[in-house]
Amino acid sequence: MRLDILTLFPGMFSGPLEESIIKRARAKGLVDIRIINIRDFSTNKHHSVDDYPFGGGVGMVMQVDPIARAVRHTDPDCEARVILTCPQGKIFNQELAWELAQEKHLVIICGHYEGVDERVREVLVDDEISIGDYVLTGGEIPALVLADAVIRLLPGALGADDAAREDSFSMGLLEYPQYTRPEVWEGRRVPPVLLSGNHEQIRLWRRREALSRTIKRRPDLLDLKNLSEEDLKLLAEIERECERDG
Ligand code: SAM
Repeated sequence: MRLDILTLFPGMFSGPLEESIIKRARAKGLVDIRIINIRDFSTNKHHSVDDYPFGGGVGMVMQVDPIARAVRHTDPDCEARVILTCPQGKIFNQELAWELAQEKHLVIICGHYEGVDERVREVLVDDEISIGDYVLTGGEIPALVLADAVIRLLPGALGADDAAREDSFSMGLLEYPQYTRPEVWEGRRVPPVLLSGNHEQIRLWRRREALSRTIKRRPDLLDLKNLSEEDLKLLAEIERECERDG
């Protein structure tokens, strides 16, 4: 995958894209990340890229021209999927991360100040994506969130190729609880089934815990038509247990 991030603040990307799984994915050649300074595409002598809003009001607005030049420079054949980070866009989730992970070339535009001239949306952008219902100073942190969530899904990025498939949200469920050594910590034991070596029992326990967590914390995620017979039996058991325990 090629990932171009268009920003006015390239320095914000130096740490996060040079550590951990993203660092490894880059080293393995799974993703080619380029941080592009929109200011380099300004044509005026001060390299300014923003101006006062027409109609008045507070703050500055990023101009369409330098952004258009930057997008067309990175994607001359209009083949990339161009994303604008935007609090008004569709909310980012794991399903969208999987979808973006199939793309060959992503371009992410980071807005700043009061945002971007509306014509950026109208002419240059395929998707507007928000990372949640709150307003950040700029699109740099949202771009990093998108980059991280997508890159870890690229084949070969995680140790085991199917690791991400068990993550929360990937199967419409939250993930089951995880434990590691020591077996007992401050009197709290790891569930014995996880030490049993019985793979079938462990699988069943994990599935039950994933269903139980999801129904208790995020019932909105559960889609009954995607559940197996076994899941439905486990769910019935969980519900009986909840009624019994009040
Ligand atoms: N005035 C804009 C509004 O009310 O919709 C907010 C502009 S915000 C201060 C500046 C930039 O930060 C936006 O153009 C966008 O790129 C980015 N941004 C802020 N919050 C975001 C969010 N929740 N998701 C994605 N991008 C966000």
